[in-house]
Amino acid sequence: MKLTYPHTLALVTGASRGIGKSIAQALAQEGLTVLCVSRSEAGCQDTLAAIAESGGTAHALAVDVADPDAVEAACKTINDRWGAVSILVNNAGITADNLLLRMKNKEWDDVLATNLSSCFYWCRGLVSGMTQKRWGRIVNITSVSGLRGNAGQANYAAAKAGMIGFTKSIARELASRNITANAVAPGFIQTDMTHGLSEDIKEKILPHIPLKRFGVAADISAMVTFLCAQEANFITGQTFTVDGGMVM
Ligand code: NAP
Repeated sequence: MKLTYPHTLALVTGASRGIGKSIAQALAQEGLTVLCVSRSEAGCQDTLAAIAESGGTAHALAVDVADPDAVEAACKTINDRWGAVSILVNNAGITADNLLLRMKNKEWDDVLATNLSSCFYWCRGLVSGMTQKRWGRIVNITSVSGLRGNAGQANYAAAKAGMIGFTKSIARELASRNITANAVAPGFIQTDMTHGLSEDIKEKILPHIPLKRFGVAADISAMVTFLCAQEANFITGQTFTVDGGMVM
């Protein structure tokens, strides 16, 4: 199916590597101009180079998504320089795993701020531009941990579950403006985030994946690209699990 995008400016957070890089590349491949956010401008240079090589257009922005003032300032700059963002993908995320009794306040606060609060900051900052165009797409990258919990990830699972409630609420709130909001819940995807897991843990996870492989970033970007297209215009408030069948 040929997908269509009536408006051409997209923003992807956490676009310097992994899933976010793949999403940025896939949207650029569809002809969108992609604003790539990570903590440093240098961080997204690889992404920009890959997009330029395939004939696409992208720009890098250094924004700490956990900092409300930084996001607010970035939204203003974007609006002044490029105009309204019509497609927002909240993908930036971190983990800081620990057992409940050992979890530090900072581990809790950082994970909640980077994964969950950031979605609120970006949506609040960019939604008025979508409202004016009466067209918008918001996709929040949650996790299967947010659907079923995970020992050692109380902070991350709480943030990712919070993203699902947030997505459903804004989907209801923004529907009348023709803005959709959906969440995508990846399972185990091979990126830097999962690179550090021991072979032992990976061997324990694999038998629980019916499709018998770990995912790759392109498995997620395929779903996101569809949800951002005009053709997904009757889909909102949903969470799509992309995990090889692990959660059914
Ligand atoms: P990754 O390879 O670790 O990349 C994380 C991205 O987030 C990087 O681009 C990083 O940018 C950015 N980021 C982190 N903190 C940031 C901050 N404060 N401000 C701006 N950018 C920040 O992770 P990934 O595996 O691609 O994961 C992407 C998303 O998918 C995350 O939300 C993650 O929770 C979710 N997810 C991943 C998996 C998986 O198996 N990999 C499974 C379920 C869900 P810089 O460090 O360059 O600034």
